[in-house]
Amino acid sequence: MATLSKVLITGASSGIGAVYAERFARRGHDLVLVARDKARLDALATQLHEKHKVDVDVLQADLTQSADLSALETRLRDDAGIGILINNAGMAQSGGFTQQTGDAIERLIALNTTALTRLAAAVAPRFVQAGQGSIVNIGSVVGLAPELGMTVYGATKAFVLFLSQGLNVELSSKGVYVQAVLPAATRTEIWERAGMDINALPEVMDVEELVDAALVGFDRREQVTIPPLHVANRWDALEGARLGLMSDIRQAHAAERYRPQA
Ligand code: NAP
Repeated sequence: MATLSKVLITGASSGIGAVYAERFARRGHDLVLVARDKARLDALATQLHEKHKVDVDVLQADLTQSADLSALETRLRDDAGIGILINNAGMAQSGGFTQQTGDAIERLIALNTTALTRLAAAVAPRFVQAGQGSIVNIGSVVGLAPELGMTVYGATKAFVLFLSQGLNVELSSKGVYVQAVLPAATRTEIWERAGMDINALPEVMDVEELVDAALVGFDRREQVTIPPLHVANRWDALEGARLGLMSDIRQAHAAERYRPQA
């Protein structure tokens, strides 16, 4: 039987990442769990090892810190056993744009976009060389919805979607699979951490349901998986509209409506 690849999961100490860890352990994959809270990671590692008899490594890392990020990049480059990267660690924002400090904005962008991109960049060349490997990037439907007012968070998640789509264009022909997962409101600690009241929301998905649905998309090799989207062809229509718009881009001249009046 072929050996199952090891799965490296960022943000595995709670929420979506912890459920991914449990689900991949259940499937028999060895794991590398990454987050800042080592005690929580150790407890999860022990539990998964005992229950599912898989090997679980723990790496404590603050992905907004360049030394920690570099160490993780090295692990992804050098550990040929890692065949799946779950780029999940992320944080949300509290307050509107004018209430956010420069430091808070920088941290949000560093974690949700810079770290995620650098980790994908660290592992992709090895996956290309092997002709196989998977990268799962956790985005958000907020990245499709500027009207929600979570502007910087949404912008980081729009980045995650674009990055994933672009990586698929570049890497799928080389055997590398990239999935963008776009949850909507899901019951995890992210809300409390950002100072938001989850109970104020009319509808929230349970985290197990979210991850199980995301894994259905993963097993189907879907490029964009939106578990809470009930009418699948809405996504196809959006893509169709986008491609239609691109077909009306003419590079040589500005459109008639932008020609200066004589
Ligand atoms: P969560 O329970 O707060 O989990 C976030 C994880 O990221 C934790 O394991 C946390 O662990 C880790 N993390 C946070 N800051 C970190 C840092 N600086 N360095 C390393 N790890 C860090 O929230 P979640 O909902 O599961 O979030 C997972 C992903 O889903 C995020 O990308 C989020 O944007 C996305 N998402 C969530 C929802 C939702 O409603 N829950 C909706 C759409 C998208 P430590 O504190 O131990 O570091």
